Amino acid sequence: MGRITLKDVTKSFGETQVIPPLNLEINDGEFVVFVGPSGCGKSTLLRLIAGLEDVTSGSININDMDATNIPPAKRGLAMVFQSYALYPHMSVRKNIGFPLKMAGIEGAQATKKIDEAAKVLNLTDYLDRKPGQLSGGQRQRVAIGRAIVREPDAFLFDEPLSNLDAALRVNMRLEISELHHQLKTTMIYVTHDQVEAMTMADKIVVLRAGNIEQVGSPIELYKNPQNLFVAGFIGSPK
Ligand code: ADP
Ligand code: MG
Repeated sequence: MGRITLKDVTKSFGETQVIPPLNLEINDGEFVVFVGPSGCGKSTLLRLIAGLEDVTSGSININDMDATNIPPAKRGLAMVFQSYALYPHMSVRKNIGFPLKMAGIEGAQATKKIDEAAKVLNLTDYLDRKPGQLSGGQRQRVAIGRAIVREPDAFLFDEPLSNLDAALRVNMRLEISELHHQLKTTMIYVTHDQVEAMTMADKIVVLRAGNIEQVGSPIELYKNPQNLFVAGFIGSPK
């Protein structure tokens, strides 16, 4: 289950409010994309959901539980960062298995989960390699594998493909969409790239200066942008 509700959430850094009161409903199994220009608050919003930042006011519910003051590790979510953040001295197997080890899961049970994640991500032949012996796309897949083994209620991606070259980005985009089809787990995906948003999302959340300008399916936003900002950003003809 991965249902997430934000109610009147605000975030200020010092005197500066970067997220004005914001309400948002994310349904179980949805692929939701937060899109908007650099600095509009996408990462902050994701970090609030993950619990890596505290809300200034408002509440966050995850599966009907008030998660507002619950530490990140207990929210049942897994975050995939744009920098790969892999351990260079550890094998792929150990990198993927690291969260399991932290949770006290080792031995055959861990091996099974790691092997399953590797299979989904086409990393089976690379489990003994070190991150330095992998391509950028493979490294990103290891980072995703590390999230998969935790069997989260939702995956949170913060511009996971921005370090990859254009051709690889297209591939990884398809792979992440395919992963969503297979796992059917809620995914929240942050990007400033409208093509990623339009091709991957069930639901797009368009942000400007911390405000939600519009929420809707790609087709809804394309056909019926609420204002010129959304139209311009989505590439609508209006
Ligand atoms: P995006 O991910 O859309 O590029 P961010 O969420 O990173 O945007 O940033 C939104 C705004 O909040 C920016 O103006 C940024 O400078 C500010 N901001 C983000 N994190 C901090 C922080 N830790 N301290 C102060 N300001 C921050
Ligand atoms: Mg960001």
